[in-house]
Amino acid sequence: MTFETLKLAPAIVKAVLEQGYTTPTPIQAQAIPAVLAGGDLLGGAQTGTGKTAAFALPILHRLAMSRSATNRSGGTGIRALVLTPTRELAAQVEESFRVYGKYLQLKSTVIFGGVGMNPQIDALRRGVDIVVATPGRLLDLQQQGKLDLSTVQVLVLDEADRMLDMGFIHDIKKLLALLPRQKQSLLFSATFSDDIRELAQGLLNNPASIQVTPRNTTVQRITQVAHPVGRAKKKALLTHIIQTHAWSQVLVFTRTKFGANHVAEHLSKAGIPAMALHGNKSQSARTQALQGFKDGAIRALVATDIAARGIDIDDLPHVVNYDIPNVSEDYVHRIGRTGRAGASGEAVSLYSLDEEGWLADIERFTKQNIPRQAMDGFGPEAGEKAEPIAMGRQTIWGGVGKPPSREVMQAAAKAARTEMMQRMRDNKSPASHKSAPAAVATRHNESRSTPRPHASTNSPTNSNRPAGRRHGSGRPGTARPATGR
Ligand code: AMP
Repeated sequence: MTFETLKLAPAIVKAVLEQGYTTPTPIQAQAIPAVLAGGDLLGGAQTGTGKTAAFALPILHRLAMSRSATNRSGGTGIRALVLTPTRELAAQVEESFRVYGKYLQLKSTVIFGGVGMNPQIDALRRGVDIVVATPGRLLDLQQQGKLDLSTVQVLVLDEADRMLDMGFIHDIKKLLALLPRQKQSLLFSATFSDDIRELAQGLLNNPASIQVTPRNTTVQRITQVAHPVGRAKKKALLTHIIQTHAWSQVLVFTRTKFGANHVAEHLSKAGIPAMALHGNKSQSARTQALQGFKDGAIRALVATDIAARGIDIDDLPHVVNYDIPNVSEDYVHRIGRTGRAGASGEAVSLYSLDEEGWLADIERFTKQNIPRQAMDGFGPEAGEKAEPIAMGRQTIWGGVGKPPSREVMQAAAKAARTEMMQRMRDNKSPASHKSAPAAVATRHNESRSTPRPHASTNSPTNSNRPAGRRHGSGRPGTARPATGR
């Protein structure tokens, strides 16, 4: 079989041949005719099977052969919507649409969180035929009135199992409700849990069912574990874990650039080749860090969320949350770095008392319990209490229960500021002598070095809280920066 025999438009076949594909993969051979025929599809396939082209090629064909749509504001309306669990996959899929559609007059764009919204809003305003997106940001845009989904003709849920694993079911349901009833729906998933079947049943209409991997065999799964740790023992515990398991490649996430530098330095001193990766590093330092990590010279890459986004490494065996993110969605993106493409992955979280509340938020958000495992000698000290965490000008509360009084929060913020000023005066910041002031950080919590405050008291009074949160558990103090999703 060839791509010509699948009756794809010559312009598409030409682009595909240019990619060096000569024969359709099994999922392509089955899915392409089914999608071209206009029916719904339930595809059991993992990354690596050629599933992206299996839906992208017939979608491109159908869009190229029909008239463009007009949205509410008179621009080109969205006809194909692809939802993916991660930013990286969204970017890859959209790139595939571009590559396969290079000889067509169709426009596509990718939408995901963690970057500025304005370019995405502009792209939507200019009009696109194809949108590839992660659910959260897409909903944000919709809620701001920047998105018109009324013209969608084809919907793809890619890696649906991972989307559900990551707690996106509510976002997906909200998005589904915004789409026209009459449409073609394609659902791809590597595994078929009851939840996936339920989702498929509600969405798909008499679907063709295609399975190219044995059911639930090479399941990509991420093992998650959380270790309670004393505030002052995190570095020691991280070192201990890497050494005892002899991990050779681990991506470590910290909340701040300052923290990333400190952790990398500590690991290096302990004999674990490590490097920090963050927005203050020059491009050449970043490239060098990445290359070293890829070829095994660097065992631990310590990164902030922002910096990690640019890391193009599939199949990481281990991810460590050295700091628990205050935005639950970041946890999902972080652990999504591992367990890809059939590989098993491990995500380890180190949480101090200061972050216990955030960990509980994450469990609510992902609808999963993360097993806790105490490590002998590394737990919180007797009498250790939760303290607020300083993030730039904000002092936020990540502990369990209500935040301390306003006075305590303010004292903590002041202590943090004083400490930071002192450090700048002493010129002790690792950042100051290690990195070139190159890239501009795009997010508050990456934009400043943030030491932790030493608030001594922790009154449980509930007073003037910092701004609210996103994921609805009502926990205060976890405002998401404007650019963050
Ligand atoms: P996917 O499963 O969509 O992530 O695709 C896995 C890889 O297979 C990608 O690098 C594609 O470029 C490649 N690929 C997809 N279809 C074909 C094909 N028919 N022949 C050769 N390579 C392909």
